[in-house]
Amino acid sequence: MVSNQSLLDRSHHSVWHPCTQMKQHETLPLVPIRSGHGVWLEDFEGKRYLDGVSSWWVNLFGHNNSRIKDAIRQQLDQLEHVILAGFTHQPVVELSEKLSSLTGLGHSFYASDGASATEIALKMSFHYWRNIGKPEKTQFISLQNGYHGETLGSLSVTDVALFKDTYANLLRGSIALPSPDWRLAETGETPEQYALRCASAAEAHIAAHHTEIAAFILEPLIQCATGMAMYHPAYLVRIRDICNRYEIHLITDEIAVGFGRTGTMFAVEQAAIKPDFICLSKGITGGYLPLSVVQTTDEIYAAFYDDNVARGFLHSHSYTGNALACSAALATLAIFEQDDVLNINRSKAAYLNQRLQVLDELPISHLRNTGMIWAFEVQTDNPGFQKSFYQAALQRGLLLRPVANTVYFMPPYVISEDEMDWMVMQTVEILHKETT
Ligand SMILES: *Cc1c(COP(=O)(O)O)cnc(C)c1O
Repeated sequence: MVSNQSLLDRSHHSVWHPCTQMKQHETLPLVPIRSGHGVWLEDFEGKRYLDGVSSWWVNLFGHNNSRIKDAIRQQLDQLEHVILAGFTHQPVVELSEKLSSLTGLGHSFYASDGASATEIALKMSFHYWRNIGKPEKTQFISLQNGYHGETLGSLSVTDVALFKDTYANLLRGSIALPSPDWRLAETGETPEQYALRCASAAEAHIAAHHTEIAAFILEPLIQCATGMAMYHPAYLVRIRDICNRYEIHLITDEIAVGFGRTGTMFAVEQAAIKPDFICLSKGITGGYLPLSVVQTTDEIYAAFYDDNVARGFLHSHSYTGNALACSAALATLAIFEQDDVLNINRSKAAYLNQRLQVLDELPISHLRNTGMIWAFEVQTDNPGFQKSFYQAALQRGLLLRPVANTVYFMPPYVISEDEMDWMVMQTVEILHKETT
């Protein structure tokens, strides 16, 4: 019989957990999970946890979702996987057509993880310039506090010292431009004014260096990994224009924010811009199977189309375009269509925003919301706040993972009003204890 304790012990002996100093688990136990249903996860003793982080931002429509499960089951009886070099199959074609109709970008290149998608976009951009006779365009620019994954190429354009500094000697240099995060605005400056000021700073750099720059990679509207920094869409409008004028690709990394997280299907819609590359993953399969995709324009695709093999994009991953993962993605997109998800999310967001007014009486600041993401900073002198809040929440059956002093909510879209009430009530009670 598997129990909480036996699974913990075996996990300690055999699994190297991600983003973790394993020694910390001597005092902070792992949480063994047996099953999930809706927004809830359950351990082997029946204790439940509300998944307030959508299992690291991947789950959209709850755990154990019958429609996504059924789609995967049907696909299992048909075809689980086939090599995508030289072969094709129905789910990958249908998914590519659907994604194109949503983003207006003509071709889709698949991988399994977000970091692989950002690697692909960077390589494709560099290779495009080489193919059209501008091989000197080899540099990438990104934003301060940006996050694009942790493989060597994607880490090179990520700006998180804790993840990056150790590997500095392995990484390419890249320039990180000022983040339009509105919390950094001066007093009296609106988020929009600040966004435009940052865009001007970006333009100054680009004007001086554009001949060497291949692409500008950024997270549109919300920089999630560094604490849900939110910014005004005017930044994206200006950057799209600047990139056009200076012949630089715009890569929008919607790995975290795509599929409705910012309130629109894709964040770029709020700036009415079309990127040259869009990177998607995380929510794409509703949190069921690993899948990522880079979509690009027909013009970029055409620059690789040639009699010469080496002008083609010879990148590959074994599980590229996995049929089961594509079927989960198609089921996820079908739910968006069938359930009027974006509209319903708007009223859920309004409800939670109203509930969060109770935070006014607590020592917090910068309460913010975009779509289905909420965040605020907690004023505390406790250097161990992050860990202590995390543990207190787990004890109460709430899974939240603050980033330093930033507490955020990123629940599955199926969260009910009662569950939102409960999540807020627990948070308020924890904060009362943690800040007094
Ligand atoms: C999570 C994330 C990635 C990396 O995706 P993985 O699947 O973890 O490799 C890249 N970019 C953004 C914006 C992300 O949030």
